[in-house]
Order: sequence, then C-alpha cells, then structure tokens
Amino acid sequence: MGRVIAVVNQKGGVGKTTTTINLGAALAEKGHRVLLIDLDPQGNASTGLGLFPGNRTTTAYELLSEEGSLAECLAGTVYENLTIVPGSGDLAGLDAELSEDPHRGQRLRQRLAVYDGDGFDTVLIDCPPSLNILTVNAMTAADTVLVPLQCEFFALEGLTQLLSTIKRVQQRLNPRLRIEGILLTMYDKRNNLSAEVAVDVRENLGSQVYDTIIPRNVRLSEAPSHGAPVLAYDGDSTGAKAYRRLAEEMLATRAIEALEGAG
Ligand code: ADP
Ligand code: MG
Repeated sequence: MGRVIAVVNQKGGVGKTTTTINLGAALAEKGHRVLLIDLDPQGNASTGLGLFPGNRTTTAYELLSEEGSLAECLAGTVYENLTIVPGSGDLAGLDAELSEDPHRGQRLRQRLAVYDGDGFDTVLIDCPPSLNILTVNAMTAADTVLVPLQCEFFALEGLTQLLSTIKRVQQRLNPRLRIEGILLTMYDKRNNLSAEVAVDVRENLGSQVYDTIIPRNVRLSEAPSHGAPVLAYDGDSTGAKAYRRLAEEMLATRAIEALEGAG
C-alpha cells in the first residue's frame, strides 16, 4: 500500500470532497494508481465520480462494520487508475454501533494492513465534517493528514481543535501520523479578504501550507453533478489546472523527502 492520506477538516463546505476527487484524478492522470475511500455518510465523493447510491453494492460501511475485506469493497470508476470504496448513509450509525469495541478506531487500518490485492500508490480518504469515529479511523490508518482551509474570515477557527485531535491520535493510536499539507481553497482573487486570509494562514502555519492555492472556480462546483472530476469535465479550467499543480507539488515534496530519508 502506498501513502495513505486522510483529508480532514471538521468544518463542512471547505473543499475536502472536491480535493479528494480532483487531487485523486490528477494523480491518476499521471499514472499513479489511486484509491479513494469515501468515509462521509453523505457519499459526495462517490456521487462526484458517477457512483450513484443505487449502484453502490459493498461500501465503506461494510468495510468497517463487519469482517468486510478491502478487496470486496473496491469499485472501479470510468477513470483509469481510479478505484473507490463508495460511501454509504449507513456510516452515520457506525459511531453508536461500534461504541462497545475497544479497537473501534483501528478498523480501517486493520483492513488496509491485511489487504493483499493489487497495490495502490496513493490512498485518499474523504472524511465527514466532524471529528467522530470515522475521522479517527481515517487518521489511524493514514500516514498523513491533508487539511483544506477555505479562504474566509474564520479559516483558522477550529484548527486548534483539529491539531489537538491529530496529536491525540498520534499519542494513542498512530505515532507515525504527519501533516501532509494545508491547502488554501476557494480563493477569490477579486476579494481582498481571500488575500488577507492567505497571508494570515501562511504566517501562522508557515511551510506546512502548500504553495498551490485552489481558486474559486464554478467548473469545480459544476463537475460533481456530471459525475466527473473537473479534469474530465473541463480539463482547461483554472480549477483543473490548480489540482494538477497540487499533484505535482505533492509529488515533488515526496521525492525530496525520499532523498532526505535515503541520505
Ligand atoms: P466539504 O467536503 O469540505 O464539505 P466540498 O468539497 O463538498 O466541501 O465543497 C463544498 C461546496 O463548495 C461544494 O458545492 C463544492 O462543489 C464547492 N466548491 C468546493 N471547492 C470549490 C472551488 N474551489 N470553487 C468553487 N466551488 C467549490
Ligand atoms: Mg465532503
């Protein structure tokens, strides 16, 4: 299994799902074998890749609730190199269902650990807008956390809580967990506030913030209703270009880390 990245922010509407779909599609376009795991009961990442609720059979719910195996829950998409474990509304009940299981936070990690099918280069986990057991499972299974921040006045609000949850997961469940990067999303270049927020976030979080910024782009919001990543829906849009740049930045950072690790 390649690098496992949890896309996390307990705020809704900050660009988690849009980032999961389009970063995944951009990496797949470069020939990376990408697996998306949709852990949001809303299932927006699944719908956004053309998997509508009626044709989802085995989902992330089966993966986490029973002795489900990853191999059984994989679904192909029409996009090359892009495989998904679809989401399901049933995921919403999992917090309560697993309350008696002392190992409930480690289910996803365990399922990935015993998987012996075809490998993936990158696994992206789309998380729900809360810090519940689904998000804990994602962070326990992950190597890194990618945090999208919307360029709006309250961008940093909630970040302290998120960082302390990450720290708690590191201490109790997953000591190797790192921050993959912080991604500024929905940047509006006609709005001074966006620029101010971007400066403020960089001052606070420094080199953890990606150079790549995702602009506000209507094509990004239209693409999901066509069941397509923006790269397929309008490959020349500013949104598509931004997610391709993000994929390149991520891979360049990874290559440098690998060199440093070897040295
Ligand atoms: P989350 O998964 O964090 O709840 P989404 O990715 O679903 O957030 O984004 C929330 C809404 O904003 C969606 O309707 C999505 O299409 C739209 N959206 C996300 N990113 C952008 C962007 N860069 N430009 C325009 N619309 C966007
Ligand atoms: Mg979402």
